[in-house]
Parts: sequence; C-alpha cells; structure tokens
Amino acid sequence: MNRGPFASDEITRMALGLNRLARNLWWTWDHAAQEVFRELSERGWRNLYHNAVAVLHEVSDHELRIRLQDRAFAQQVQDVLRRFDEYMTCEDTWGQKNAPQFLDRPIAYFSAEFGFHETLPIAAGGLGVLAGDHAKSASDLGLGFVGISLFYREGYFMQSINPDGWQAEYYTLLEPRNLPMEPVLNGHGEPLICTVGVAATEVSFKAWRVNVGRVPVYLLDSNVPDNEPMFRDLTLHVYGGDSTTRIMQELLLGVGGVRLLRAMGIKPSVYHLNEGHAAFLILELVREKMAEGLSFEAALEQTRNECVFTTHTPVEAGHDKFTRDVMELALHRFFREFRVPRETIFRLGRVNPDDEHAPFNMTALAVRGSRATNAVSELHARVTRKMLKQLYPSKTEDEVPIGHVSNGVHILGWMKGPVRSFWTRKLGQGWEKDVHDPAFWQKMLDPQFVSDEELWALRYKLRRELIEFTRRRLLLQCERLTRSDFIAFDALLNPDALTIGFGRRFAVYKRATLVFQKLDRLVELIKDKHRPVQFIFAGKAHPRDEPGKRIIQEIINLSRSPELKGKVVFIENYDIHVARQMVSGCDLWLNNPRRPLEASGTSGMKTPWNVALNLSILDGWWREAYDGTNGFAIGNDSQPDSVEEQDRLDSENLYRVLADEVIPCFFQRAPNGVPRAWIQKVRRAMATVPPRFNTWRMAIEYTTRYYLGGDTVTSPAQNAAEAATDKQAAS
Ligand SMILES: *Cc1c(COP(=O)(O)O)cnc(C)c1O
Repeated sequence: MNRGPFASDEITRMALGLNRLARNLWWTWDHAAQEVFRELSERGWRNLYHNAVAVLHEVSDHELRIRLQDRAFAQQVQDVLRRFDEYMTCEDTWGQKNAPQFLDRPIAYFSAEFGFHETLPIAAGGLGVLAGDHAKSASDLGLGFVGISLFYREGYFMQSINPDGWQAEYYTLLEPRNLPMEPVLNGHGEPLICTVGVAATEVSFKAWRVNVGRVPVYLLDSNVPDNEPMFRDLTLHVYGGDSTTRIMQELLLGVGGVRLLRAMGIKPSVYHLNEGHAAFLILELVREKMAEGLSFEAALEQTRNECVFTTHTPVEAGHDKFTRDVMELALHRFFREFRVPRETIFRLGRVNPDDEHAPFNMTALAVRGSRATNAVSELHARVTRKMLKQLYPSKTEDEVPIGHVSNGVHILGWMKGPVRSFWTRKLGQGWEKDVHDPAFWQKMLDPQFVSDEELWALRYKLRRELIEFTRRRLLLQCERLTRSDFIAFDALLNPDALTIGFGRRFAVYKRATLVFQKLDRLVELIKDKHRPVQFIFAGKAHPRDEPGKRIIQEIINLSRSPELKGKVVFIENYDIHVARQMVSGCDLWLNNPRRPLEASGTSGMKTPWNVALNLSILDGWWREAYDGTNGFAIGNDSQPDSVEEQDRLDSENLYRVLADEVIPCFFQRAPNGVPRAWIQKVRRAMATVPPRFNTWRMAIEYTTRYYLGGDTVTSPAQNAAEAATDKQAAS
C-alpha cells in the first residue's frame, strides 16, 4: 500500500468533498461526520455552535490540505465521504419502491418554520422541529419531497433573563455565507428572483437551498435590493411583528412558495400544508388554474385534489385569523389578479361564509382547499372534529372526516454521541441501519443483550454530561447577574440526584409551574438527603406573551429561594442544542399540559434511548404510548370541565405519583446500587416508544394514507369507534 503523501488531486477531492458535506445537513445526524469537523477545530466547533460551514471557514485552505495529509485523519474523512455518497446515491429506498411517482413530481411541504439544527435557528418550537424531522426522514426514505419555508435572517429570538427574572429578547444576524445553505440561481448564475404582490407593491424575493440529505428545502428571502426597507424586513424574524407582518409573511410563504417552485420547474403532485400558515398557496393554485381558463369552482375542485392539510393545535390562538381590513390591505394587489369578486375569496376563509363580520380564518381556508385534513394524535383528532365541525355543515361531529397521524421524531438526529458510541462499542459499526426496526428495540427487553448495569452506567454518564453543561451555562448566565445570585457551581446540582427536566415553550397551557403549586409539598419531596431530587427548566415565551414571561419569572424567583436554590435551575435560551442536552441528561421528562391542549408534544419521544422515562399527563402522544409499564402517568384518560378543578387535581396527582411511584422506584436499589425496577421500565419504554413515535413511520403513514391519495379521510366508522372508547374511558 502506498504510504507516501497523497497526490494533489486526491487532496482536492477530499477538500471539495468536505465542503459539499458541510453544506448538507446529513452531518447533523451522522456522528462520524460531526467528529471530522470537531477534529478540524475543537474550539471552532464549540464556539461556532457546531456549525460545519463556519468551521471550514476557520480553517485555511492551506491548513485543510496539509491536515488531510495525516493518513489517519484522511481515512476518517474518506470513510465519512464514502458513506455520504452511498447515502446520496442509494436507489434501493422505501420511496423508490413504494412511491416512485414522487421522484419526478415531488411532495411540496410548506411550513412557516423548520427546526433542523442549532446552527440554523429558524424555528420557534415543536412545529418547526417536527417539520425538520419530517424532512430528514423523507430523505432517509428516499421520498420525492421538497420543503418550502422562509429565511428569517435574524431567526427566532435569543433569550436572556435579566436580574428581575424577566425575559429579554435579542437577535443576531444570520450570515448565509456561514450557514449550511446555498443561493438558488437562475440560468445565468445570478440569484433567481420571483415576485409576489404584497399590499400595493410587487415584492421581490430570492431563495436559499438547504440540503437535508437528499431533500431540498427552499427558504424564501425578501431581503433583496429592489425592495423597500419595509419589505426587505418582511422575513426578518420568525412570526415577527403584528398581524400585518404576519399576513404578509404568510402571503410570501404560500403564494411565493408556489411561484418559486414554478420558476425552478418543479411540478409537485401534492402540497402538504403543515399548519394553516401556508394556506394562501391554495389561492395561488386556484389563480393559476383560472388563468388557464377554468372557472373558480373547477379550479378550486382541482386544487383540493392536490392539497392535504395538517392542523397542529386545539389552542384558538394558534389558528391565524385576519380582519377584513388587514386582508384588504395585504391582498390588495394579489386580489387584482383574480377574476372573481373578493367576496368569493372571503367566503372561503370564514367559518360561517355568510357572516360578513367573521374574520378570515386560515384554518377554514386550509380545510376547504384540501382533500384531507388530519390531526396529530387520536385525542387531538377528536377535539379537532368538535372544533371544526362548523366547517362541515352536513356532518355530525362523529362524521367529520378528520383522522390523525401521530407525530414522531427523527431518532438519529436526537441521539447524542455518547449513546451512539455506547452501541457502536457494543454492537460494532453499522448498527444504525436497524434503528427503525422494532426488532432492534425489542432486544432492549433482554438483559443478556444489555445488562441493567450497563444501562445504569450510561444513564450516569448522560446525567453527568447534562449537569456539567448546566454548570457551564449557569456560570455564563450568572456573570451577568448580581453577586447575590452567585452560587458555588460545584454545589449546583447533584450527579446522584433524580433529575427531572422540563423544557418547552412557555405557553400558559403547558403549566410549567404546576409542580410548584403547593410549595411545601414539593419541598417535602426534595429535601430528603438520601433521596435527592432536582429540576432543570428551560424554555422561551413568545416575545408578546406576557403571561408566559411571568411564568418564567416565577420559576427564576423560585430557583433563587433558599429552599430550592441549587435544586431548581433555569437554563437560558432553550433551542435544539439545549433540548438535546436535556432530553439526554434527565432521568425523568415532565410534561403536564392542560389536557387536551397538547395536540401531540414530541420532546418526550426523544428520551427513551437515553435510559430515561416520561412522567406526563395522558394527553397527545403519551396517551397513546403509555401502557402502564413504560413510564408514569399523571391522572387518567379524562379531564374535569373546569380549569381550576383540573389544575388542582393534576397537581395533586403529580405530587402523589412523584411521592408514591417515581421517587421510590428510582431509589430502590439492588446491593450494587442499580435500580432494577426503574431500569425495567426503561427497557419497556425503549421497546415501545421509538419503534412507533418516529418520523420514519410518520412519513410512511403520510405517504400511504395521504400523499398517495388512497385513504384520504377516516371513515365515520373509525370515528364512531374512537368516540365509543372515549365514552367508556370517561365513565
Ligand atoms: C422537541 C422540541 C420541542 C417540542 O416540545 P414539546 O413541548 O414536547 O412539543 C420544542 N422545542 C425544541 C427545541 C425541541 O427540540
């Protein structure tokens, strides 16, 4: 074997390969690829927040070329590049076999946010993370799929907590050159520019392409020189500004998204509306068809055949509604391109079309313009049928054709390095290919396959990593605070304690402070020196959500109180990185929304392979996953009518389950210190949760039931069966 230096063209090939790899988010779910970039610059990797493109900019061309002359490193790089190429060119995929028609004419998935990775902070929460995970799985499956969203050049806000415990928001400018994305160009190599009528102006926009494995996601960006400053800032912030900004963003997303696809010559066979934000795409599809000579009715009918809609929340405020004035203002120019009276359009968006005073409701438009509407969990489907019944005047509630596809997560994207290394050491290279195989997870029940002791050791390692991460983060947070807030960081959090995590948006219905409702009960639970318990909180409140911010303030104040200091901490700036640390490090993941408002929830699905358990209200996904053996439930499959009664009962049940089930189970130890009963529950969680609550299964379900157009609606019989089990459960 030739052990001399690599030839120049071989080095060039590797360097180009690395540049291509950095601009494909495949590396965000491939551990070995991340290791290559970390190896190139450990400090850059950390300080630049795990951004492969930025790391490559840190390293000069000369350095890169000479580093690649290190045979061992070059071997590592070549292995990664070979696997990357295999991934990108593989034709033996689920999509190729089961849905080849989408390879030419893809599924176009529209979402106002996508959460892929911490380097590209263009998601506000779970909806975006779900969209990102959906795209990653579509890529893994080899589905013909393109995503459409906006490039928010200041992203979602960063959170810092001021000395009064109040959330402050700040923004940093995202530099496209330093991000894993590339400009969409026209035939002359210049940025491709499209336009959309917004208010009285023709607004121009360009687009960026994010490569998510095999799947492209296009981000529209109105920051082009032709536009007035106001329109350049349309895509500044995720869900930025007031309802005027919002509607204009949605116009750009829906109408602009379709125009961009046309300009690129992409002809989707299906449009998937991930939430109502993109519903204006329906109007654009209708407009196009009318321009080709169809009547409004015929155009709408054809458009309906192309669209499917997923609704994600039963919370009223989550359904965009625009007043007539705002609609008239924002759609002024767009309306002129229609050959129908405005009233015809307005009727599509009113829950009751005849009510001229009703606002324009994006959910109504989405339902009327789609051949199928689905919810994201069984209970959510039921609640949605009730909520949207008015949109189906000829149907009874049980007949409303809204089914559900339960959400999932992209398993490998959420599995931290130490967990992967654990399995690689145990099983050798290549075990990841089985990660969607139920048989792989079934093996977790077998102590011969993996022992209690090994699992417990992994649990300790992950908890310690989280605690060390939290100490580093809190040290940074405290540097900005007054001295009295300063605590000794080695006394902060206990690596032996039952560590309970709560990380999510601070929307009021999620009830972050439920566990503090009776403070003496909580203090009683956590003061036992032999059975230490601690809490780690994180989450952002929407900038205009004052009640949400008050909840954060309450937790910050509690974390500074003498009884809870060092045992309750709040990590600032919850994002995908913090989420990954928390779901990996915590022993127990707490989820206590006001049922039935958590349509699904997904963070709890990210925990089982970390040897962690869920403690949750039986809402959304957990109601489907919990089987009595694989974690803990708060309350039962029902809820009282009054919110006060619900909060009282749920907090009562929360304290009871913690005191009688969770804490004893965690601290009941075998002579060698292993909590056998706890580990048994973990095994059950691993065997039951990942095989089902993953976006691989979810994307297949969307494809077979919705995209392929077969079972586009749930049958009334299925609804009736669900309603019957509901009544049983309630009685
Ligand atoms: C998984 C995830 C969510 C979703 O959390 P839920 O409250 O469980 O729906 C939100 N934000 C981030 C950053 C996540 O990683």
